[in-house]
Amino acid sequence: MDDLQFGMRDKRGNWKPTARIEIAPFYQIPPNIRSIIKWLPGYFLPWNLFFAISAVAYWAWIVPPVETLKTFAWGWIFKLWLVNTISVILFYGAFELRLYLRRAQGTRFKFNHKFPADTPSNIFWFSKQNIDNFLRGMLTGVPIWTAVQGIVLWAYANELAPWLSIAESPVYLFMLALLVPVIHEIHFFYIHRLIHTPFLYKHVHSVHHNSINPSPWSSLAMHPVEHMLYFSTMFYHLIIPSNPIIALYQLHYAGFGAVPGHIGFDKIEVGKNSAVDSHAYTHYLHHKYFEVNYGDGLVPLDKIFGTWHDGSKESDEIMKERFRKKQERASARKTRSGPVA
Ligand SMILES: [Zn+2]
Ligand SMILES: [Zn+2]
Repeated sequence: MDDLQFGMRDKRGNWKPTARIEIAPFYQIPPNIRSIIKWLPGYFLPWNLFFAISAVAYWAWIVPPVETLKTFAWGWIFKLWLVNTISVILFYGAFELRLYLRRAQGTRFKFNHKFPADTPSNIFWFSKQNIDNFLRGMLTGVPIWTAVQGIVLWAYANELAPWLSIAESPVYLFMLALLVPVIHEIHFFYIHRLIHTPFLYKHVHSVHHNSINPSPWSSLAMHPVEHMLYFSTMFYHLIIPSNPIIALYQLHYAGFGAVPGHIGFDKIEVGKNSAVDSHAYTHYLHHKYFEVNYGDGLVPLDKIFGTWHDGSKESDEIMKERFRKKQERASARKTRSGPVA
């Protein structure tokens, strides 16, 4: 595909989309029904539908019977961990293999023209971003993912969470399933803001931001504290009336859903003339500029807090002005607290 029909490439070879990133169209006044209808298919396809189906598949084939879940036992927790590990390797690995190892589409639609494997840095374990990112995901990411999954399933089995059956509450549960990405977005936005505070950034979140040029393995390259905060989104389903399948969807939305945002390409080519949108540019800009796009634009929290960056020059100017004011405030504080001559 000709990526220059959709964007532009600078002298260094970095590609950016021409179109601005749009916030989900629900917040326009007056409501624009046409843009909502245009936006809706992308809400389901392909990513969210895949994560939802993966939750159903887990419930059908992987999660043990409720009787077994009632008691914590290493056997079923090990099985969950093993399936989670294999699933992550297959799902994340498929993108890594195609786009980063085989480089099947070269740098077409790639935001940063460099491939992490070509730029070793001693900021990473073994000086390799891929190895560092993979190991962090495997050593603490998937185990913490599994622990959260095990706790929630155990709680459901022991009637410690309000479990609604699909037969009894199909409409409510369908609506709740539609809101899973919204719950994720609001949760992620606030924990993300929290870990950008100076102390937590330095000791926790900087691990994730080491990958300025993210690739699929970067998705779960986090400090264990961030893993815990990130996956704790599943715990909301212990409080709100829900169902284990929707709770699993919430978890998979976090676990598998992290990949599209870190894929590094705007579109994944699937044929000569067709491609799947990754919607990765929003979070790519967060990795590039650090203090913009704490969320993904599904809920307009970044707009409300003045941290939204839609990829345009205007957004760049607003961001630079914000950084300049922040710098000024920091210098003023330093002057005030400095030694009196
Ligand atoms: Zn990230
Ligand atoms: Zn961040």
